[in-house]
Amino acid sequence: MFETSLIELSQSALQKNINFIKKMIGDQIRLSSVIKGNAYGHGIELFVPMAEKAGVQHFSVFSADEAFQVLKNRQNGAGVMIMGSIDHEELLWAIENAVEVFVFDLGRMENALQIAKKHQKQVKIHLHLETGMNRLGLEEHELLKALDLLKKYPNSFILEGVCTHFAGAESIANYVRIQRQIDYYKRRIDLLNKHDISPKYQHTACSAAMISYPETRLDMVRVGILQYGFFPTQETLIQYIKEKEDKTDPLARVLKWKSKVMSIKYVTTGEFVGYGTTYLVKNDTRIAVVPVGYAHGYSRSLSNQGRVLIHGKQLSVIGTVNMNLILVDLTESPETQIGDEVVLIGKQGDASISVASFGEFTNQLNYELLTRLPINIPRQVVD
Ligand SMILES: *Cc1c(COP(=O)(O)O)cnc(C)c1O
Repeated sequence: MFETSLIELSQSALQKNINFIKKMIGDQIRLSSVIKGNAYGHGIELFVPMAEKAGVQHFSVFSADEAFQVLKNRQNGAGVMIMGSIDHEELLWAIENAVEVFVFDLGRMENALQIAKKHQKQVKIHLHLETGMNRLGLEEHELLKALDLLKKYPNSFILEGVCTHFAGAESIANYVRIQRQIDYYKRRIDLLNKHDISPKYQHTACSAAMISYPETRLDMVRVGILQYGFFPTQETLIQYIKEKEDKTDPLARVLKWKSKVMSIKYVTTGEFVGYGTTYLVKNDTRIAVVPVGYAHGYSRSLSNQGRVLIHGKQLSVIGTVNMNLILVDLTESPETQIGDEVVLIGKQGDASISVASFGEFTNQLNYELLTRLPINIPRQVVD
């Protein structure tokens, strides 16, 4: 291996998480596995066949290039749905490959219908409704125009779904806003029913909504972060375990990110470590230099905050995170030698580092740090 770190993906951990999700939703509700952001940094190429093996039959992606990756790597013919961006040139490709698309823009919708009609095919659409996130989605007046378009091209589409997305179901602070979105959504569905429109799948729930608002599960859930073994926030985990007897986290991390000790140094009391003056050595300290930094996706916000595992012990990252290096205090692990394994995310022995335990200061860190893991770190599937 030429790279300074390596990512392992655990098939058994993924199976555990998928089983957990499927048990929660039952067999009447479909699971769509959300794999935008290079499968939350895990790597789409390896993750798609792993997920299929674990029982996933449908994927949600953000863009056409990700959908392309799914088609290239799927082995059991799973369905794929683009939730975000698709350009005019890509529409015909999507139609020909039965790739489903979200519709939140009338111009794009008419384009898609025209192309389908011209080629005597059908485009699989999901009407994305605006219900209060104020990001993407058809407003009420646009929805009425969308219905006119469906009447204008009756043979050129399959209405795969109607959907919306919640603005922060992972925090109880947003409870009122989410309830209002649920109400708006129901009213829009009533409107569709009045026009005799019935989609194959209604879907609104992401991981947090699936757990905290079970009524949002409808016909399908779009689950990202949970399948990788992370709760969206600490709050959502507590929400889940509060009524359970077993208070342990039911998920397993799929990803393990590891490197090796590159060099070891002794620093004496009163010296500063690394760039600047952010870390002052209080007692003579042995320090490991690890060849991973912000260029490899190890966020600078982990300066003086991050933890890594060496010999099964949680050790502190000291000083600032450099472009290609971090420094680790070896006081708790004096036996450490050059070449020893360093775990940045995942398990070592009985100890584990979750992204969130890097620091409680931001909930979004799980999502951000994972998706920023560079594509070129080698990844391999393990049991
Ligand atoms: C990312 C995303 C999801 C999945 O969110 P998680 O919190 O990772 O489960 C679901 N729906 C949409 C529209 C998304 O963009």
